[in-house]
Amino acid sequence: MALIVQKYGGTSVGSVERIKNVARRAIKWADAGNQVVVVVSAMSGETNRLIALAREIQPEPDPRELDVVASTGEQVTIGLLAMALKSLGRDARSYTGGQVGVHTDSAFTKARIESIDQQRIRADLEAGRIVVVAGFQGVDAQGNITTLGRGGSDTSGVALAAALGADECQIYTDVDGVYTTDPRVVPEASKLPSITFEEMLEMASLGSKVLQIRSVEFAGKYRVRLRVLSSLTPWDIPLEHEMHSGTLITFEEDQKNMERAVVSGIAFARDEAKITVVGVPDRPGIAYQILSAVGQANIEVDMIVQNQSVDGFTDFSFTVGRNDYARTLSILKSEVQGHIGAKDVIGDPKACKISIVGVGMRSHAGVASTMFRTLSEEGINIQMISTSEIKVSVLIDEKYLELAVRALHRAFDLDAPATPA
Ligand code: ADP
Ligand code: ASP
Ligand code: MG
Repeated sequence: MALIVQKYGGTSVGSVERIKNVARRAIKWADAGNQVVVVVSAMSGETNRLIALAREIQPEPDPRELDVVASTGEQVTIGLLAMALKSLGRDARSYTGGQVGVHTDSAFTKARIESIDQQRIRADLEAGRIVVVAGFQGVDAQGNITTLGRGGSDTSGVALAAALGADECQIYTDVDGVYTTDPRVVPEASKLPSITFEEMLEMASLGSKVLQIRSVEFAGKYRVRLRVLSSLTPWDIPLEHEMHSGTLITFEEDQKNMERAVVSGIAFARDEAKITVVGVPDRPGIAYQILSAVGQANIEVDMIVQNQSVDGFTDFSFTVGRNDYARTLSILKSEVQGHIGAKDVIGDPKACKISIVGVGMRSHAGVASTMFRTLSEEGINIQMISTSEIKVSVLIDEKYLELAVRALHRAFDLDAPATPA
């Protein structure tokens, strides 16, 4: 008998009819002799609605209270799904994160899971019940409700699978797997039958929101077998077909002999902003002074570029999320510019980051130059570059995002073969 954790996202539970389908699908898996734990998100749009309500009261909501509000969407879906299961004749129980013992730290709105109690879930599974758990939420040591950051139900699902030693964690969503890039932006994107854990980690951290990055980290750390698949197929497709569908996240050593593309996927992040401190005296401690002022304001910095100076002065550029753009500029202008004697602080809030990802890059030269040539042929200026062993990222003007992603998708032979008419 296998133990399966299934996670269903917002669209997958977006209506009463879809919730009933989730119930039918979970029962299909249970009827085949599996123990089934289902983790659900709030109905699509619900978490946004709750956060907007909170902002009407407090434009910068109190984080503890925001979590009290934002976590309620999931409580609705667990109750509805448990009812749907029971009305189909299957015993089930719903639990909030707190009830089932999802313990987190106290970082409201972005809490990390520290441990999960197994007792209650195991007892229910032994009694033949389907267990339904609210994603996205937990409790801290003081019993305060916490949430795990947007998209956090993925992490709830994988963490539960890790805690229970599940045979597989299935992430059911509104696409039928992980694609070479977001299929909503590039219709020619093709579905990957598998992707390595390392590539998935890069894709998620570079902007592909199909999986929350922490869920991938968990899967890697605890070696959870993770599959992304569609909840929008008819619920009664044969199990033998469904169990091999979607995209499996694999570990590189499992697929040593596989022929792989050099670039496996393209990720992008909208809503980036670039800041440049102009004419900085080139002496020790400058990068620290600039970035510590930003860090103290809890602003996350991503790409960083500093040039060698020829005349004792240099320009220092970095990126932040667009939401933090105005705050970063004002901190640098008021606190830093005078102290360090920089000539100016300028910025551009309309940037985006595009990244090519692939473990095949380790053994192939010239990947970055193909990327740069492709962008130059489209007349797209590269503002910043950063690389790692398996990715190259560039910062460009956001108005070229779609054009750049499509051109790169073609250049690296990722377009799905045209289907014959
Ligand atoms: P859920 O509500 O099920 O958690 P999300 O909206 O969080 O679903 O994630 C699924 C979405 O991720 C897809 O609808 C798709 O637009 C987007 N996406 C971005 N990059 C990719 C990719 N490389 N492959 C598949 N989907 C992607
Ligand atoms: N409902 C939460 C969100 O919208 C968590 C999730 O869907 O994964 O971010
Ligand atoms: Mg999601």
